[in-house]
Amino acid sequence: METKLLTSEQYKEAGAILKKGGLVGIPTETVYGLAANALDGAAVAKIFEAKGRPQDNPLIVHIADLSEIDDLVAYVPPVVYDLADAFWPGPLTIILEKSGIIPDEVTTGLNTVAIRMPSHPVARQIIKAAGVPLAAPSANTSGKPSPTTAAHVMHDMNGKIDAVVDGGPCEVGVESTVITLATRKPRLLRPGRITPDELEEVLGDELIIDDAVLGKLKEGERAASPGMKYKHYSPSSDVFVVKGPLDKFKALVEKEANDKTAVLVFDGEEKEFDIMTLNFGAEDDDLAHAAKLFDALRTCDDEGIEKLFVRCPSDEGVGLAVMNRLLRAAEYKVLEV
Ligand code: AMP
Ligand code: MG
Repeated sequence: METKLLTSEQYKEAGAILKKGGLVGIPTETVYGLAANALDGAAVAKIFEAKGRPQDNPLIVHIADLSEIDDLVAYVPPVVYDLADAFWPGPLTIILEKSGIIPDEVTTGLNTVAIRMPSHPVARQIIKAAGVPLAAPSANTSGKPSPTTAAHVMHDMNGKIDAVVDGGPCEVGVESTVITLATRKPRLLRPGRITPDELEEVLGDELIIDDAVLGKLKEGERAASPGMKYKHYSPSSDVFVVKGPLDKFKALVEKEANDKTAVLVFDGEEKEFDIMTLNFGAEDDDLAHAAKLFDALRTCDDEGIEKLFVRCPSDEGVGLAVMNRLLRAAEYKVLEV
């Protein structure tokens, strides 16, 4: 299959492909999504094939207008309107009990469905042009770092999907915050750009943080969000998160480095190293860390890097989302120096 690279002005063509049951890589404010008509089980099944995605990892359904939610879920708890008011369109996914029109391919047989209204103008235009809600996970090969540019999507999906729409680099850079309202108390399943503090302000209630957000699931433990149990965001290179001051980080790297080693360091620290350096933004800039992480991991793979040492970022605010992804990419290898 030839994968067309479309410009953002060609959103109508993308919509037409989706309407016919095709797959399109689409820009969103979080990461690029691999979209199909969410109401067409056969189209959705092709997403799993293109990504090599495990059959029990459900997808997020993307809408362009709040009124679309009524048909997709069994019922809309009133707090959804407060959350939508505060955060939609934007990087928040809400899990609710599903309605009968959602095919099993989307939810992998669960009785709940994840819904999000993205803010990226091109994503919204594509959803409207398709005229249906779009099921879309991240547009990477399963297990690899999520794509934050159209080139990343092409790298993983060229020849496997109908088209990719280039909407420029993603602003947020990590996937949406996922909360479930299908449990007795609201629960955070995946951290993202919308932080627990911001959510609690609207919920007026304590948000339970799922154990899998920073911790590692034990063997056989059931994941509330199936996506959290898989080896995830992993580049081919071996990633190490290093906690400690710069001078000790540098001493460790000098001892371990060869010509296939790289470091991911904060602004101004690059000059300390004579191996490949990747920039993580300013040390106190959690938004920059989020925007730069996946591109840095992908660059390592492209350059044949075998070991990547990462300066440990803060896990406060959006840093919670950054650490959630980084720890998985590192398979929880954290060195204290
Ligand atoms: P991705 O967009 O590739 O990160 O994949 C969607 C994420 O949403 C995965 O981590 C899923 O586990 C999660 N998800 C989607 N639907 C549900 C659901 N009904 N219940 C729990 N998690 C879900
Ligand atoms: Mg994903």
